[in-house]
Amino acid sequence: MATASAPKIFRNYINGEWVEARGGKVIEDRNPANTDELVGMFPASGAEDVERAVEAAKAAYNKWRLTPAPKRAEILFHAAEILVARKEDYSRDMTREMGKVLAETRGDVQEAIDMTYLMAGEGRRQFGHTTPSELPDKFAMAVRSPIGVAGLITPWNFPMAIPSWKAMPALICGNTVVLKPAEDTPLSTYNLTQVLAEAGLPPGVLNVVFGYGPDAGAPMLNNPDVGLVSFTGSTEVGRIVSQACAPTFKKCHLEMGGKNIIIVMDDANLDLAIEGAVWGGFGTSGQRCTAASRVAVQKGVYRQFVEKFVARVKALKVGDGLDPATHMGPCINEQQLQTVIKYVDIGSAEGAKLSAGGHRLETGVHARGWFHEPTVFTDCDPEMRVCQEEIFGPVVSVIPFDSFDDAISIANGVKYGLSAAIYTRNVNQAFRAQRDLETGIVYVNAPTIGAETHLPFGGTKNTGNGHREAGLAALDFYSEWKTVYVDYSDKLQRAQIDN
Ligand code: NAD
Repeated sequence: MATASAPKIFRNYINGEWVEARGGKVIEDRNPANTDELVGMFPASGAEDVERAVEAAKAAYNKWRLTPAPKRAEILFHAAEILVARKEDYSRDMTREMGKVLAETRGDVQEAIDMTYLMAGEGRRQFGHTTPSELPDKFAMAVRSPIGVAGLITPWNFPMAIPSWKAMPALICGNTVVLKPAEDTPLSTYNLTQVLAEAGLPPGVLNVVFGYGPDAGAPMLNNPDVGLVSFTGSTEVGRIVSQACAPTFKKCHLEMGGKNIIIVMDDANLDLAIEGAVWGGFGTSGQRCTAASRVAVQKGVYRQFVEKFVARVKALKVGDGLDPATHMGPCINEQQLQTVIKYVDIGSAEGAKLSAGGHRLETGVHARGWFHEPTVFTDCDPEMRVCQEEIFGPVVSVIPFDSFDDAISIANGVKYGLSAAIYTRNVNQAFRAQRDLETGIVYVNAPTIGAETHLPFGGTKNTGNGHREAGLAALDFYSEWKTVYVDYSDKLQRAQIDN
């Protein structure tokens, strides 16, 4: 926790010790709502630091692998309890380093708590299979085995939740970990690491190396001692990660970009759909992988929807996330703000109608931060770039459509496949939608955001590569199936031949 008395200089966590990066370079962690506020200084690590971390994780692996899973679980359970006790402080730290409002950072820490308890529970489950053998006096089973050193690379938008979504299942399955958090939000991962260390994780089981992606993330990808890599971030970097993992055949899990949609049918509860579109589009300033950056509205209610939605968006208060009156915080950094500004220009040039926002906020309380107005384009064509490309900011494009089939084809007509939602009171349409939407997650009468930790999370197409985070599905990534046959017949029995 970074209190006034806590040191502002942070270190890597390797082999149970807080150590400086070899190169001595640092990264400034600044508050995006007020860049004058220096939240902390973190190491800008390099390949040598990553190598040390991997060596420590490799050395710790055998003992951790052989520690009974229920014992590993006790440490996780204790960590969850510490997180509960510190939830408020850690939420405030997170708002200071990444800008989202306190209600949302509390949600982020809560997700880490939920995931930690969930995976502590898996310490006493991790079920395998037993099945009759085709031969007499022979026993057959399949059990989960750990893989080795897990390399984890995480983004800044869920700076405690996403590291926990990866680290907790990795640890409960018996892997050791090297984690490289996003350079914009190191403090939240530092806090999580501190908790796991206090909870009693043995030295080397979790190692954290702070730094920039190409310097501190990339060296994990070709290290032969790293057995699996889990990455969440942009599709562009995900492609680099995937290619770098291929030569050493690392198991590789990618969670990447999204262009999610809310479909509003004529028969929807319109006020509910509008609430959902505001929350889905502008929560975390639109910087969620599941953000509803497209809203498709059936023509019978289109005008009514637009009028009310735009009025609601114009009333959103933008500011410091620690201020209880704030609805929406800043963009994470200047580059992200410039991307938003660029896409507002692109949308306007393409002929989308700018109906709300459209400008940077840079005076008064907004003078020292990366703020942008919540922005709505209406009367959009689904092929426009603002309807196709991930903006990752507070920009929502509204698209009119005629029929249910049109809505599904608009929804599926993008290269991403993370989350989609439909608002309708017609149960037949709801069921057809959940069947036909080509996304990893579908919501009915709820926005595109709001995943729960005990269900699988992930996307199709350019969003993911077939693995899933969270739920029991996470165990499938962080373990391998080992099939065991025990023959107690005292004679040679040949499968497929002697039976
Ligand atoms: P990013 O791809 O820029 O960075 C993600 C992580 O990768 C960071 O830790 C970064 O330092 C690291 N990295 C960058 N270059 C690297 C390299 N060459 N080698 C190894 N590591 C490297 O993404 P971001 O800006 O942090 O996050 C925003 C993106 O993340 C958006 O596209 C968003 O949709 C996506 N995201 C997806 C999910 C999901 O579950 N699908 C969740 C959250 C965010």
